[in-house]
Amino acid sequence: KRKIAVMTSGGDSPGMNGAVRAVVRSTIALGHEAYCIYEGYEGLVKGGDLIKRMAWEDVRGWLSEGGTLIGTARCAEFRERPGRLAAAKNLVLNGIDGLIVCGGDGSLTGADLFRQEWTGLLEELVETEELTPDQVAPFKTLNIAGLVGSIDNDMSSTDATIGAYSSLARICQAVDYIDMTAASHQRAFVIEVMGRHCGWLAVMSGVSTGADYIFIPEKPPPEGWETQMCDTISRHRKLGKRKTIVIVAEGAIDRNLNAITSNYVMEVLVKRLKLDTRVTCLGHVQRGGTAVAYDRMLSTLQGVEAVKAIVKAKPEDPSPMIAITENKITRKPLVEAVEMTKGVARAIKSKDFAQAMHLRDAEFDE
Ligand code: ATP
Repeated sequence: KRKIAVMTSGGDSPGMNGAVRAVVRSTIALGHEAYCIYEGYEGLVKGGDLIKRMAWEDVRGWLSEGGTLIGTARCAEFRERPGRLAAAKNLVLNGIDGLIVCGGDGSLTGADLFRQEWTGLLEELVETEELTPDQVAPFKTLNIAGLVGSIDNDMSSTDATIGAYSSLARICQAVDYIDMTAASHQRAFVIEVMGRHCGWLAVMSGVSTGADYIFIPEKPPPEGWETQMCDTISRHRKLGKRKTIVIVAEGAIDRNLNAITSNYVMEVLVKRLKLDTRVTCLGHVQRGGTAVAYDRMLSTLQGVEAVKAIVKAKPEDPSPMIAITENKITRKPLVEAVEMTKGVARAIKSKDFAQAMHLRDAEFDE
């Protein structure tokens, strides 16, 4: 009988509860014991009542709850070895040797580092007499599996992250609301959406709402974009459009890596086109609320797959990240997916936008 724990870490996203529910229930259904680590890595480092055994009924109704009911946190201590040493001790004391982490690239990096260090951490715990050799003897390896919870859809090697479609739906709903008031007054709205290194929410919400212009980090607009944007908007207005919607990802930049802010875009629209323009920053509304059906389905299927991956893991297997590829639930090497994801941020920083788009599986079309 295995003891398998699940935790949520980094920014919350709708669907995380569905993932926890699926992990808890499939662990129990396969005859093993399920645990939840509360408050992300904080719970792993502190232990005590932040690590709880879960029963089938403990996760009843969780599919339709937003946020993460087991809490999430950013934990500086886990980034340092003493924090991970305490975490290893807590897992051994609870008999847990399978860990499923639902979070972003930082959380999954931390999980894999922890797995790599596992043997060394246990040796150190014995040397320092924190644990006895008998206590650590049954814990040869730590199996981990990653689930990607992120509203940004910013992880490479998977088509969708848990929470992204819920956030997209929320943005579209908000833009629909704004559309009505914008058209009434013939106004322009600059709408800021989340996405520091990833323009998926901006692009998809722009396409889904028929926005006039979109700014994303991976593909900055051409030099002189102000003129291009104004020409496009004027053309749309001449065709009878009574409102203007410009979507700006929070990480939008120009080709010199200067931020393109919503306020600057507004100034351009006011000065050049004399449009009555407002800025709306959607903020955390994009994160909150319940998960859409897609995220409930994705988190459930991926949660089940993560447990299967842990139960059947062979020592030589690399840690898996549970993905979705062309509508099939798949396992991808976690380290490679995280590396590719970090590569996007690096490519943007070095102004290699074609590479950034390539790593996002998209063509860079001038
Ligand atoms: P989001 O995409 O929402 O930002 P994330 O998982 O990338 O999610 P981070 O803040 O990067 O969010 O990471 C969450 C936590 O994971 C950190 O607070 C830390 O405890 C742990 N973590 C992140 N990176 C590492 C690392 N390199 N080594 C050890 N732990 C890490």
